[in-house]
Order: sequence, then structure tokens, then C-alpha cells
Amino acid sequence: MSYTIEGSTGTWEIVCGLEVHAQVVSEAKLFSGAATKFGAEANTQVSPVDAGMPGMLPVVNGWCVEQAVRTGLGLRAAINRTSVFERKNYFYPDLPCGYQISQYQHPVVGTGKLTIDFPDGTAKDVGITRLHLEMDAGKSVHDAHADASLIDLNRSGVALMEIVSEPDIASPEEAVLYLRKLRSILRYLGTCDGNMEEGSLRCDANVSVRKVGDTALGTRCEVKNVNSMRFVARAIEYEARRQVEILEGGGRIDQETRLFDSVRGETRSMRSKEEAHDYRYFPDPDLLPLEFSQAFVDELRTQLPELPDQKKARFIADFALSAYDASVLVAERESADFYETVLAALSDKQRDGKMAANWVINELFGRLNKEGRGIAGSPVSAAQLGAVVGLIGEGTISGKIAKD
Ligand code: ADP
Ligand code: MG
Repeated sequence: MSYTIEGSTGTWEIVCGLEVHAQVVSEAKLFSGAATKFGAEANTQVSPVDAGMPGMLPVVNGWCVEQAVRTGLGLRAAINRTSVFERKNYFYPDLPCGYQISQYQHPVVGTGKLTIDFPDGTAKDVGITRLHLEMDAGKSVHDAHADASLIDLNRSGVALMEIVSEPDIASPEEAVLYLRKLRSILRYLGTCDGNMEEGSLRCDANVSVRKVGDTALGTRCEVKNVNSMRFVARAIEYEARRQVEILEGGGRIDQETRLFDSVRGETRSMRSKEEAHDYRYFPDPDLLPLEFSQAFVDELRTQLPELPDQKKARFIADFALSAYDASVLVAERESADFYETVLAALSDKQRDGKMAANWVINELFGRLNKEGRGIAGSPVSAAQLGAVVGLIGEGTISGKIAKD
């Protein structure tokens, strides 16, 4: 499981921390009532606040704040009962105000933990540093005209949760497992739809390398916008090898922001790393600090759904599943529900959790996968599969006949 890179001067390991931007599932934006539908015609979902008109006042969307707190609770994190919105000042054509409203010194959520599950059944905790709320920027469209760029402000002001991990990730595989688990938790909570193609979940990877045995952290590079699970793994691997090569050649790593080019499979420099003081963060004078009562936080906690880790533990305890099978089934709520519906269709005498899991995972999901279908597109309902599994359990029909 340990991942290393062999160099001519020794053995290297990867140190990686991920910053994930997760778009909050919300009809309205973080500071305005404008709509957030994906794919709408350009500039049709823009209020004067989102367009940065002078004198407009942001009004915080309580729903979005609640989703951030719920996400923090799902990440077993400390909820800060007081947090502050600050202005992060920079110029960019798709940022009409000249600043992004974000959180900096006082984020809404503090430290937490996320457990990643390896295929061999072992697990590892990755620390969550913080989660903060911020508004998204607009989008520059460079390829519609040969001699002009266009600005679409539909995305301007959409609520994002930035979820920052500790540098606890030690391989490309761990990064992918972290992202998958985070996506799974967000989808269970319903706070983010996790759609990477539509940009609802975006990932920046911070990567450094060090010799095995060293404890000090190396200089990191941040690889921006790696927007698929596969690319995250490739970007980290490429970036780590690039750094090893430089260090072994006697060079040093400049802290910088790099872009992953998915066509060439390499990262390239975008800009040298900007420092926090360049942004001149200061509390937004238009917004009061967020203040929660303990009762508000407790109430949200009691209303959380059963989350993947809890469901997995229950499946292992109640149905004698292996850790791996349980992880596969709980990754999506729909697959866990499907499995439980199959079990419910069985009589006490017929109920064999392991056999049912095998039928759901290998026979059904395996086949759906091959045909490129989701659970919703399954020609066999959970109740029907339950009836078949029941007959096999009783020995009425054989597994071989059932598969046909
Ligand atoms: P910044 O605003 O500079 O991007 P953040 O605190 O937002 O800083 O994020 C820093 C990210 O980089 C975190 O995910 C953290 O775990 C990671 N990180 C910090 N130091 C290192 C390092 N030496 N190597 C790899 N990752 C690192
Ligand atoms: Mg950052």
C-alpha cells in the first residue's frame, strides 16, 4: 500500500493535501436570490449583486449556511459558532466586484476527519483542516469568438464550500479514495450533487515530495482544476515525478500554481504562488458575522441521515459482509437501498447477506456497468432480484439457472 518513487539518490514519498470546491445544492445564490440552474443561457441568472453593481447589498442565504454546517457535521468536524465573511481582493475580468466574498481567519467549520477505505479492507483517516463558504466567480468564454472573450456571470455568486484537507494523502490512489469518499458523503447529505463534469465538484491538488524517513515537508506546488478522478491520480503522479527529477538534479522546487493538461498528461506553470497578504483580506463590512446557537447546531446534527461509514459498520455487523463488499454497497445511497430492498424480500430463513451482496454487486451491478447503465436503468427491480435470491437460497433453482 505504501507508495514510493525510486530515484538515483534514494527513495521518495508523496505528500499531498486536497482543496475541493463543492457547489452547494441551492436554488438561489449565496448572497442573492438569482437562480443557479446549470446550463442556462449566458447572463440570464444574474442579479445586480452578482454583477457587482455599486451600492448593492449582499444578503446571506440561510439555506446555504445550513448546508455548510451539515457538511461539517458529516465530516465529524468542529462547527464554529461564530464565523466571518471576508473580502479576498483581486482583479479578474469575471469578478466584477474586484473581490470574492470568502472566509479566511474564521471559517464556518474547523478540523474534522474523513476515513478512506482501501480495497483490502483496511482504512485510514485523513484530517480535514477546515471548510469555508465562498461565492463562485463568473466564467470567461475564450473560444466563442476569434477576437474577443465573453463573460458569463451566471455562476457569479453561486455558493461554494471549500473543503481543505491536511497533507495526509500519501499516494495518487489515496487522493482518489479521498475524493470518492468526500463525494459520497456530500451526496448522502444532499449538500452537493458531486457532478464533476458540470463543475459542481472541483479539485486542486497540493503536492510535494520528500525522502522516505524525512519528517520536514518539502516545498509544494498546487495543481489547479483537476476535474475527474482519473486526472487527479495522473496529475499527482506526474507532478511528484517532476519534482523528484528536479531535486535529484540538484535543483529546488519553486512554490507555484500549475495547471494539469489532460491531453498531454502533464502539469505546467501558471503563476508563482500568491501570498495571502497579496489579497488584503478584511471582514466584509456589508455582512455581519455568522452566529449560531448550540441548539441550532444540535438540531442539525440530530437530523443527519445515516452516513456511509455508519451504514458500512451496520452492514458488516448485521449482514456479516466483508469490509470491501460493504464499502461498495454504501458508496451510493441508491445501491445501499437497493441491497436492503433485496434483503427485505427474503424470508428470515432465506436471508443470507453475503449471498445477496454477491448477487447485487457482481451479477447485477457488474452487468449494468458493462452495459453502461445505472441502478435506475436496471431491468430487474430489487424486489424481483430478492425473489430470485430467495429461490436460490432454498435450493429451488440453481445459481446457474438464475444467472440466465
Ligand atoms: P493556500 O491558500 O495557500 O492554498 P490552503 O491552506 O488553502 O493554502 O491549502 C493548503 C493545502 O496544501 C492544504 O490542503 C494542505 O494540506 C496542503 N499542503 C500544505 N503544505 C503542503 C506540503 N508541503 N506538501 C503538500 N501539501 C501541502
Ligand atoms: Mg488554497
